Amino acid sequence: MIIVMRYGASEEDILRVIEQVERSGCEAHLDRGVERTIIGVRSGRHDLSPESFQRLPGVADAVRILKPYKLASREFHPSFTRIGLGRFEINEASFGVIAGPCSVESREQITETAKAVKAAGAHALRGGAFKPRSSPYAFQGFGEEGLKWLLCAGQEAELPVVTEVMHPGNIEMVARYADVLQIGARNMQNYDLLKEVASVGKPVFLKRGMAARVEDLLLSAEYLLDGGCGQVILCERGIRTFETATRNTMDIAAVPVLKKLTHLPVFVDPSHAAGYSDYVMPLALAAAAAGADGIMVEVHPNPAEARSDGPQSLTFPSFAELMESCRRVAQVVGRQV
Ligand code: PEP
Ligand code: MN
Repeated sequence: MIIVMRYGASEEDILRVIEQVERSGCEAHLDRGVERTIIGVRSGRHDLSPESFQRLPGVADAVRILKPYKLASREFHPSFTRIGLGRFEINEASFGVIAGPCSVESREQITETAKAVKAAGAHALRGGAFKPRSSPYAFQGFGEEGLKWLLCAGQEAELPVVTEVMHPGNIEMVARYADVLQIGARNMQNYDLLKEVASVGKPVFLKRGMAARVEDLLLSAEYLLDGGCGQVILCERGIRTFETATRNTMDIAAVPVLKKLTHLPVFVDPSHAAGYSDYVMPLALAAAAAGADGIMVEVHPNPAEARSDGPQSLTFPSFAELMESCRRVAQVVGRQV
């Protein structure tokens, strides 16, 4: 439920509402907008009636949120959720870039990549140590050793690191190295994993499942928010359609749809959407033009020799070029890279 305060409601009115919410055993979230103040009521399994709040002084209205996801909705939290990525902040005027190889392959490979993406202007380093591969015979990642290399490379280049966690039993270990925990497309609906990851207290980068609707993605985000993780970054990474010219079909419309429905940052991963490096630049620019808050891009020192996702990985020079073009497009839509 949300309680909308009247324009000019006093502090006393706001406090009275919050007290009544808390007396009912629920949590109140105050969102002071420029035009109106909203109190989101996190009622969980309690059934609170809006009528009991509508008559309080200073209250304009109290209404139930009808969508199946509540905490993730714009109604509950009208203002954008800003999230820090090291010294960089994902906000309404910024365009974040997370870049790095699909897999962490060696200390040298990740260190070299970290330096190159940092020099080109990236804000965070990505790299997988636990890889969700479609084939059991494919390279599965270096595990904890890979995490150590990733963390060192991030520290040397002064970049926060983003890496995937696949198993609830590994969360604690991955969280020791990562600044942001990634939930991959294949695990978007692994609800036990989501519940456990939510309690870590670090931002989560949640990728859309390849056969998940926007609403499914938001419901997965709801698991994280309900579990106590307020810092969730959503990522459109392409969905399965009948089209095979690209690896997946990038659902560009998901960007404005998500921006309308939720207060959480929306990123796009043009690399996994495209599957081929030639298409990564135009898709990344489309994401920026459509209003995305940032992108995640795969970059490798030598894509031809990558142990995973080489065909879609950018070389260092092509990543630098992509950054330059992103800067120009982001500026057109009022953002800074
Ligand atoms: C990845 O980011 O390396 C990855 C495996 O992506 P996805 O989960 O979107 O397939
Ligand atoms: Mn990959």
